[in-house]
Amino acid sequence: MADIIQLLPDNIANQIAAGEVIQRPASAVKELLENAADAGATEIRLFINDAGKAQVQVTDNGNGMSETDARMAFERHATSKIRNIEDLFRIKTMGFRGEALASIAAVAQVELKTRREEDELGTYIEIENSQVVKQEPCACAVGTSIIMKNLFFNVPARRNFLKSNAAEMRHIVDEFIRVAMAFPGIFFSLTSNGQEVFHLESGSLKQRIVQVLGASYNARLVSVNEETDYMNIYGFVGKPETARKTRGDQYFFVNSRFIRSAYLNHAVNSAFDEMIAKDSFPSYVLYIDLDPSQIDINVHPTKQEIKFEDEKIIYAFVQAAVKHALAQFSIAPSLDFTLNAEIQGLDAVSKPFTTDKKDAASSSNLFKTFTQKNQAHFIEGNEKSELKHWKEFYTPDQSTPQSPEGGGDMQSATHNAQQLQTTNYKPQTLTVLPDTTLLQLHNTYIIASTNSGFLLVHQQLAHERILYERYGMAAHGQQMATQQSLFPVTLELAGGDVALLTDLLPDLLSIGYQVEPFGNNSFVIQGIPADIFPGNEKNAIELLIEQFKHFSSDIKFSKREKLVRCLARQQAIKAGQSLTQKEMLVLVEELFTCSSPNVTPTGSPTYLEFKEDYLDRMFGR
Ligand code: ADP
Ligand code: MG
Repeated sequence: MADIIQLLPDNIANQIAAGEVIQRPASAVKELLENAADAGATEIRLFINDAGKAQVQVTDNGNGMSETDARMAFERHATSKIRNIEDLFRIKTMGFRGEALASIAAVAQVELKTRREEDELGTYIEIENSQVVKQEPCACAVGTSIIMKNLFFNVPARRNFLKSNAAEMRHIVDEFIRVAMAFPGIFFSLTSNGQEVFHLESGSLKQRIVQVLGASYNARLVSVNEETDYMNIYGFVGKPETARKTRGDQYFFVNSRFIRSAYLNHAVNSAFDEMIAKDSFPSYVLYIDLDPSQIDINVHPTKQEIKFEDEKIIYAFVQAAVKHALAQFSIAPSLDFTLNAEIQGLDAVSKPFTTDKKDAASSSNLFKTFTQKNQAHFIEGNEKSELKHWKEFYTPDQSTPQSPEGGGDMQSATHNAQQLQTTNYKPQTLTVLPDTTLLQLHNTYIIASTNSGFLLVHQQLAHERILYERYGMAAHGQQMATQQSLFPVTLELAGGDVALLTDLLPDLLSIGYQVEPFGNNSFVIQGIPADIFPGNEKNAIELLIEQFKHFSSDIKFSKREKLVRCLARQQAIKAGQSLTQKEMLVLVEELFTCSSPNVTPTGSPTYLEFKEDYLDRMFGR
């Protein structure tokens, strides 16, 4: 038989490689903005058309490129930012992989204009399918302007994956905000379809944050500032009253790079400890600067995750710095800054950071500098246990969908009860006796007699199933009734959430929430589903956005399905709520009119059935 392995043609290989870096218009925005910042620009302008699907343009007044460099820039692994492997651990620039422009050129049409100060004429280059199709000298300002057109024009399958304009625009705004917050000294603007959406003059960090997050933050930020030999932490946390039901305004930057870190996020949350409600999220914009050799940013293609040489120490510092800041502003009434022996005993503290590096600061020294500069500043008592639990805190709770409707349901419904037989599908013979008195146990379980035993119904899970089917029907045609609010509530959202909510409005309406845009990031809740008690709608919508975001990477579910699941979970009667006879009866009756009464949408059982013969056996009869 003939050999079958062939090398992929360059253009296909490039398109595949591009998939890692450029997933959507916002990815290109991020790369182009970062390149402009790396080029030393003091003014960066972003122009978007059609949510970036038609065009993304970034114009900067940075260093520009020579004619040769301008061509080279689009080659894969072409970078001016590192030369050898050691450089990887000294990175001060945003870019270093030399992949962004090559990736963009593989999946879009590109026009570049660039000029260095010392050159009289600049260079104009046009690229399509990674090929230069035109190059000529041009007159242009010092700096660089790159236009990316028709993203994925040559990869229709990926173009089809792009979301609605509102959703793509939200991603773009998110990326824009992150870069703008990392570089307050640079002027940034964002113009979308000809309309200027952001105009951010250069200024102080605080000015930038307020420009981006909104003036309401002005008097509500507490500054964080700790300097040590090992690292600096600075920035702001919102006073406890700025905590939100949605994880909106939380930003971490490490050496000017926006990163995601559930671990560090937990450090901040835990510093707020008792000061904010359990289900709300503090706002913060925190910057960590440290020796680049202490981090590895090359662990993620879009560089949004990094690895710290010593994560525990960073955690402890972040937590302590935030506590300290809150204490200084006497927001935390009586914080107990006692040095924890366990933390001191951590390897990282008792041994040098990297044993093989002479210049590595010894951590006990580091710890001293940290504590000396701010005497009040120690790491608090129950550190260890928090470290242990941070993971639990961040793994989505059990009720997060694991299996799509149907599939796994049966298994999880039965797994709790081998002997106590749980019914798997709508039981034909199971009837709750009509005149039976229902019993509520621990304000959580309802005991109902049946013709052949009794049921133990979990009120919250059962109600979640009921609502899931009800909303599900509404979302697929039978619109739910809306009750008009007598006092419409306004809702103000963070930039990124605006597009998300806008995108959800039609679906929300179908299930009874009438929400209307009100300009300037705000919305008015005009009406709510007829069967929901008014008064809680603002929370409900905020919570919905938050839950929705947790699902947003879950492509198994359609937008509607996600919405319906979130709402059902959110609106379900909670365990712990006392119910009247009537309420219990309605609940049990409605449960058994459901098409799959026995499980929640996520597969937990809603009730257990105890059959008479099983009970008899238990009693040895
Ligand atoms: P990286 O940023 O990782 O080096 P890119 O593909 O993003 O890789 O860019 C390749 C090179 O092109 C950069 O190293 C830089 O020298 C040059 N370059 C890109 N954008 C600009 C810009 N806006 N101004 C000046 N030079 C740029
Ligand atoms: Mg780059």
